[in-house]
Amino acid sequence: MYFDPRPKTKREDLFDRERELEEFITALESRRPLTVITGIRRLGKTSLLLVGLNEANAPYILVDMRDVNPSSEFDLYKRIEAGLNRLIRERKDIKTKIKEILSHISGIQILGSGIYLSWGERGVDLLELFETLERLDVVIAFDEVQYAKGPIGRKLTGLIAHLYDYTELRIVVTGSEVGLLYDFLGIEDPNAPLFGRYFEEITLSRFSEEQSREFLRIGFEQCNVNVADETIGEAVRALDGIVGWLVLFGMSALKNPERALEATLKKATLLAKSEFEEFLKRHEFARKRYIAVMRAVALGNKRWSEIKEFLERREKKSISDSVVHRLLTNLVKSSFLEKVRGEYRISDPILEMVFKQ
Ligand code: ADP
Repeated sequence: MYFDPRPKTKREDLFDRERELEEFITALESRRPLTVITGIRRLGKTSLLLVGLNEANAPYILVDMRDVNPSSEFDLYKRIEAGLNRLIRERKDIKTKIKEILSHISGIQILGSGIYLSWGERGVDLLELFETLERLDVVIAFDEVQYAKGPIGRKLTGLIAHLYDYTELRIVVTGSEVGLLYDFLGIEDPNAPLFGRYFEEITLSRFSEEQSREFLRIGFEQCNVNVADETIGEAVRALDGIVGWLVLFGMSALKNPERALEATLKKATLLAKSEFEEFLKRHEFARKRYIAVMRAVALGNKRWSEIKEFLERREKKSISDSVVHRLLTNLVKSSFLEKVRGEYRISDPILEMVFKQ
């Protein structure tokens, strides 16, 4: 069923994405050491990841890095622990074997049906843990890995680089803040542990208008509900091919089609605002300027020079090129803005609406 807010895990619940799924399964089957799935928020990266891993019948550990505390080892270990426990819950066929091989690693306790990791000086050596899992050919997946910054980020890139170089393990990472994900991988930094390593990249884009319409139509059909073409058309225009927002609309329309778009926009606005607020918290020193840049773009100032002029008019003073460059780069790296043929646009229609008001 399409209108389910959780990431999809089965192929039949995934609308379209055939090409991307094929690419991902091929990367897994041809044993690419590192696969990177990119795309802005809510385009279905986690869904593609889970469906692909299930289709390839690969046992996997999924480590969700959303909002990880960048300096908390505890947080990282808890997330890996959750991934291990999910693995044994879902793969009853190899559960006993997993427990058996893990029980020999110091810092791991197997109690009843659960696996527990200790951290700190006498904690589990993550290299040893993952090298042991190589025996069962487990895929290691880090979802939204760009959130790993600071000491945790360094630990993780070091770990991934080691696994890349010395094991046969397959690693998959996803990221919605695409520029930050590249920074994490150190693509352009010769001193970064992963610099120069080849990886497979799968990029998700928005659905076209036609695909969005089809998605909603089939979604309602699956629930035996009739929704007017006009209502669907209005939602498609407002939600700009972002499948996560379309799902939200679909679920809402099952209850009340007339008020569904209004309810979706309300909910989506809260979510999008809180995500942008997280970004602002990380860039507190220039909060007002980031807001002004977003407003400038929302109001139709698409070129670099227009945005600069907008900021200068607002502040009634000159602003250096390097400052404007930094503001735009950080917004693009975090995927709040996109740059297409020299013009900037807000990636998410909901945020665009927020800044237009
Ligand atoms: P991301 O990881 O990119 O943020 P998710 O995989 O969490 O995206 O998907 C966001 C929402 O959209 C979820 O409700 C998910 O079920 C739904 N979804 C994503 N891709 C598809 C798809 N191809 N078909 C149906 N639903 C999808």
